[in-house]
Amino acid sequence: MKGTTNRVTSLPCMLLLLSGISSAGMVEYFTDNGFANPVATMQHPCAEYYEGVTYIAYQGPHEDPYVCAYDHAAQKWSGPVKAGVNPMGKTPDPVDPSEPDNHGRPAMIVDGKGYIHLVFGGHGGCWRLLGKNELGTPGKGRQTHVVSKNPQDISSWEVLDNISPFGTYSQFVKMADGDIYLFYRHGSHRSDWVYQKSTDNCRTFAPPVSVLKHKIQESDRNIHDAWYAWFDNGKGDTITASYVYHPCRILGHTKERYNGYYMKLNCADDSWENAGGNTLTLPITKEYADENTLVCDTFETKVRSKRGVCRVDDNGNPHLFFRQQGQVVYFRWLGNAWQTPVAVPGGDGDMIVESSNVVRMLLSGKGEVCWWKTEDGGLTWNKGACLISSPDAGYVPTALVRNGGPAGWMVVSERTTAQHHLYRKMFLLGDKGPVGRPEEEASNVKELLKTLEAAPPIPKNEKGQKKNRGKSEEKGDDDE
Ligand code: ZN
Repeated sequence: MKGTTNRVTSLPCMLLLLSGISSAGMVEYFTDNGFANPVATMQHPCAEYYEGVTYIAYQGPHEDPYVCAYDHAAQKWSGPVKAGVNPMGKTPDPVDPSEPDNHGRPAMIVDGKGYIHLVFGGHGGCWRLLGKNELGTPGKGRQTHVVSKNPQDISSWEVLDNISPFGTYSQFVKMADGDIYLFYRHGSHRSDWVYQKSTDNCRTFAPPVSVLKHKIQESDRNIHDAWYAWFDNGKGDTITASYVYHPCRILGHTKERYNGYYMKLNCADDSWENAGGNTLTLPITKEYADENTLVCDTFETKVRSKRGVCRVDDNGNPHLFFRQQGQVVYFRWLGNAWQTPVAVPGGDGDMIVESSNVVRMLLSGKGEVCWWKTEDGGLTWNKGACLISSPDAGYVPTALVRNGGPAGWMVVSERTTAQHHLYRKMFLLGDKGPVGRPEEEASNVKELLKTLEAAPPIPKNEKGQKKNRGKSEEKGDDDE
């Protein structure tokens, strides 16, 4: 008898299940100590599936990088473990959303020997501490590289002082031959985008190579040509770059971003080419980009265009989106021209190119993160399953888990509409929804949250954007 009654779910248990807490004390999040804007699609990858384990990096308390890991066969989580110190972090953790810098959230890669690398903590670098930035203008923090002391082990970390401290928006691209490229912007807005290449599992890096050039505009010397870019694997031994233009005004600064551009790096000989296969001369200036790598021109119509992602099909043709007017706008290269753009409802996310005609996107929407799919090469899109949803929350997506799959596609952070503190629950989303964890393991700041939730919210007129509006070109602007 006992065996059968155990399987009957009581009403209280049903209610707990509906609220996301199972009778076994499971919750849907893997930690509640994500802080401020813990993840984004920009700093990527921030998670990787490697030999049965999904490793995840995110910004936690004090804006420090934290790591969790999920062993899929054992169904067991470990972490969070603090992997380093972000020089831009504040103590105590602020509650005003304008105070965290957020640019220094971590990117992560697992090298060919299983060591886990994070790069974090940079927002251009402080010139007082670091001296002159030869490829841009200074900012804050220090781009920092740490590595796990042991392979496939998140418990202990050490600093490797072998990259430029001036970086921000750090991005790793690992090639099939084991070479690892670290891309980043070499300073604050008015800086080159560069890469440093490692052929020895990130133990040493070659000096920075400029890809996108910052410079004063000839026609209006108040405007500096600047960029937001995203780099990832192309077909074979290539890396794609998709980017947007930022007219960075010295006086009267705005967040304007326009246009969309694409090109690719041939890693065998470090040459770059545009979608049509023409060789490019680097570093790319604004005028040169307009002539050679333009995907879409939104400058004339003054439609703002934010960086998206780019993936390739079996032919190596790029499929990409830029974020325009609250939607993602999809483009693909047809071999001789860009297909007419199609808007897909969604805020941000990533895509999987199954073939030239079949593409799936995993996108954040209002209170949800859902699949969208095309089977006609992007002309029409249908909404699929939602992997997480809540009427009282918003979700910030990451780029896809590197080598991820149905057991864990994407990491998201959650912000509930009611909360007035900056801690975020973090989720790993697979085809079955969030990968759960026992509540006592996942609630890492439970007591602190009780205190914060009992405190009154800070008055609206003291909140972030208003208080700091116009104070700094970078304030609160972490590419979100
Ligand atoms: Zn700017």
